Amino acid sequence: MERCDVAVIGAGPAGSAAATWAARGGADVMLFEKGERGRDKSCGDGLTPRAVAELDRMGVDIGTFHRIDGLRVQAGRTVREVDWPDGPFPPRGAVAPRAEFDALLMETAAKAGADLRERSVAEPVLDGERVVGVRTKHGEVRADLVVVASGAGSPAAKALGAVRVPTSPFGLAIRAYVPSTRADDRYMEACLTVQGPDGDIVPGYGWVFPAGDGVVNVGVGALSTMRNFSDLNLNRMLDAYTAQVRESWGLGEVLARPRAWRLPMHVGRRHGPGWVAIGDAAGLVNPFNGEGIDYGLESGRLAAECHQASPHHADALYGARLEAEYDAFFATARRFAWVIGRPQLLRVLLAMALSTGFTMRLVLDIMANLVDEEHPGLAGRSLSIGGRGLALLDPVLRS
Ligand SMILES: Cc1cc2nc3c(=O)[nH]c(=O)nc-3n(C[C@H](O)[C@H](O)[C@H](O)COP(=O)(O)OP(=O)(O)OC[C@H]3O[C@@H](n4cnc5c(N)ncnc54)[C@H](O)[C@@H]3O)c2cc1C
Repeated sequence: MERCDVAVIGAGPAGSAAATWAARGGADVMLFEKGERGRDKSCGDGLTPRAVAELDRMGVDIGTFHRIDGLRVQAGRTVREVDWPDGPFPPRGAVAPRAEFDALLMETAAKAGADLRERSVAEPVLDGERVVGVRTKHGEVRADLVVVASGAGSPAAKALGAVRVPTSPFGLAIRAYVPSTRADDRYMEACLTVQGPDGDIVPGYGWVFPAGDGVVNVGVGALSTMRNFSDLNLNRMLDAYTAQVRESWGLGEVLARPRAWRLPMHVGRRHGPGWVAIGDAAGLVNPFNGEGIDYGLESGRLAAECHQASPHHADALYGARLEAEYDAFFATARRFAWVIGRPQLLRVLLAMALSTGFTMRLVLDIMANLVDEEHPGLAGRSLSIGGRGLALLDPVLRS
């Protein structure tokens, strides 16, 4: 039987980050990935300044990916464009196609010293209540800490109780790569009024994220709190949105079959004796904007830091840090998801948000979580006052 200090299940952004930081901290790390190197993942590929800051911290050079300077939001006939703020995070974003981006992160982990094993983990190994390792078809590997980074709804996470809280919101989204004459545009575009084939507004949002090299990532997503969510047909919605932006983006034909997946926003258990869940396995997708790459990278680092601080109590330490650093923001964002599930309220909020460049910038800072922790400013204060207000309304929102 083999042994290591840290066994990581899954080499997406979260798992590769955890493996990189743990190996750099001196731990003996095994990183298991069931997909082939260069495997694709359904994603918008969008990196906001928060993700770029974390990649800078890891020393990952993303200079080869298409740079993004800001966000363009469209709702009906109103369009607003804002640059990324020059605050606590670098005023840079990027669109990084996941097949290449994830391969780069796996390589970073391997260079840091993690032992990358391209094989599937069948299940975690338990000794009583404690997770003591992982089982693959090649045998068992014992580890002080098992890091579950196997993504949304994965069997490894489910086996340990890291499952979606049924009463909380979640998202579904689909994306396609499409040739475009504007693939070099430096703004990510989001549309909050996606029209169905009959011209009616359908619940959800659409995006066009320019990836450079003649291609854009086009997608649509919806929150489970939206009216008619159960009738949602993502493929039809994507067709409708692609038709809506075909002319303005000079789109060609879709390059491969569009891919859909879920966006988990709240799971019940994120750690237990001998294990921690990170990234999507821990439900860390921002309900405000559907971003999960940065929280995957950050929670991967947190897990490694907790292991380094106390190898045998890393799980409890990690739970406390998640709670302190993320839970208030995520609870507010989930409550907001209930608010925007009501079309009338959504219309009022959109009109307010897009009314001026100033309000748009404020909303961007809040929704992309670009608030400076030390000097929270208006965005930070709005977030905490809004958060308290939404917490009081919680029972009403859920009903
Ligand atoms: C359509 C769509 C658009 C999105 N757009 C954006 C966006 O623009 N920006 C953004 O920040 N986020 C976006 N997200 C969210 C983002 O994709 C996820 O939050 C992110 O991929 C989470 O990373 P992760 O490492 O936790 O999980 P994943 O990226 O899912 O990686 C999990 C890895 O674990 C591996 N694995 C699973 N089970 C096992 C096993 N048993 N053994 C070994 N390996 C295993 C998988 O093969 C995979 O490589 C989007 C999501 C969707 C669905």
